[in-house]
Amino acid sequence: MDIILKRSIEWLDRLIAFDTTSRLSNLDLIADVEKYMKELGVATRLTYDKDKTKANLWCTIGPQNVGGVVLSGHTDVVPIDGQDWTKAPFKMSEESGKLFGRGTSDMKGFCAIALAMAPEMKKRDLKIPIHFAFSFDEEVGCIGVRHLIKDVVENLPLPRAVIVGEPTSMKIVGGNKGGRSFRTTVRGVPGHSSEPHRGANSIMAAARIVNYIESLQEELIKNADENSLFDPPYTTFDLGVIEGGTANNIIPEYTHFNWGYRGLPDENPLELENKIKSFIDENIEPKLKLVSKDAGVTTELRNETPPLIPDHESAAEHLIRHLTGLNESGTVAFGTEAGLFQQAGIPGVIFGPGSIQQAHQPDEFIEIDQMAQCVSFMKELTSWAEESH
Ligand SMILES: [Zn+2]
Repeated sequence: MDIILKRSIEWLDRLIAFDTTSRLSNLDLIADVEKYMKELGVATRLTYDKDKTKANLWCTIGPQNVGGVVLSGHTDVVPIDGQDWTKAPFKMSEESGKLFGRGTSDMKGFCAIALAMAPEMKKRDLKIPIHFAFSFDEEVGCIGVRHLIKDVVENLPLPRAVIVGEPTSMKIVGGNKGGRSFRTTVRGVPGHSSEPHRGANSIMAAARIVNYIESLQEELIKNADENSLFDPPYTTFDLGVIEGGTANNIIPEYTHFNWGYRGLPDENPLELENKIKSFIDENIEPKLKLVSKDAGVTTELRNETPPLIPDHESAAEHLIRHLTGLNESGTVAFGTEAGLFQQAGIPGVIFGPGSIQQAHQPDEFIEIDQMAQCVSFMKELTSWAEESH
């Protein structure tokens, strides 16, 4: 077995053993990686969340005075709660060419390969630096990387391209949908359920809003552009959580629901948001306020991730095409950090080992063959960084 591949698998084993579910700290993992990079003589930088319980790590191998190519990977993983695992999620195991464990494909595999390559990169006389960007809280809205990008943009030479190593089965993905998520609270008026005319039922009001969102979704499906690069070829709404009411015989005062959408990059999302807002203003609130002026509907923005706008001429796409010989680039419907880099002026692609089919699943795995393909790519990248000017 190729020595870098062997070391990548060892690194994956090491990274999987840190339970970095997004709700937990990732500091132990970051400390382990930072120690290793420092021992190699690589300069590191940390940025933190506000409580300093989570950190991003930035490292540069090669010259420090020019912008290079960023290898970006998130260190957090999604929860295993409620999933039926037959393998140990936080102890990597191998079976018939596959490596199992939470985060193997999404996306500690990519990080492991970058780390295994680091000594080789360090040995070479790179003319263009290679940066590692390991971030926290990607899975809960690309939170961590925002701090890292801000630090880089304000303090360091602007990198020329970023490769976000999400699992794309080693195919180039040049665009992803962006999205916004919200929490809507409907406040009704409580009372005994035998006297509905004296109260205002927040569940019923919330249900009408949800129905309206569903009707917007149907409209979007009907008007979808069949030539769109995206699958599905329209903006999608999601509604993941709803909670309301306390007992069968009480008119429910509060109902909350979390919803959001993933929009096509060329669509103005505010149009949809405004439609929903108008629907609430015209059809829901007046009825609630008739019962009590304290009743009503509030919506707060929870998170926002910009799309990655496809750009086939970008430095990032050129580089990957040049190094791999691939010439097609696709799009994905899931959000990634690439749009945030692009917004900051750093062109990006999504390109990494493993399949998104395995991401977030029980018995998540990555095929060793995918790891091997990514190792070859990293070697090409390293040679290119040495030979370029
Ligand atoms: Zn991911």
